[in-house]
Amino acid sequence: MPGTDNKDNKEKKHVCSICGKPSDMTICHACEDKIRGEAVEKKHDAEKIKK
Ligand SMILES: [Zn+2]
Repeated sequence: MPGTDNKDNKEKKHVCSICGKPSDMTICHACEDKIRGEAVEKKHDAEKIKK
C-alpha cells in the first residue's frame, strides 16, 4: 500500500469521521460507543426478524 507511511500525514489533523472532532483514530470513542450500540440494536432486530 503506497502512501500509508507518508511524511505529510504529520500535517494532517486526525478527526473523527463521524462527528469531525479531533481524534487520534478514525472514529472517536464517543462515536465508537454509539456505533457499537446501534450495531447491537441492529443485531437484535435481525434476530427478531429471523424468528
Ligand atoms: Zn466522533
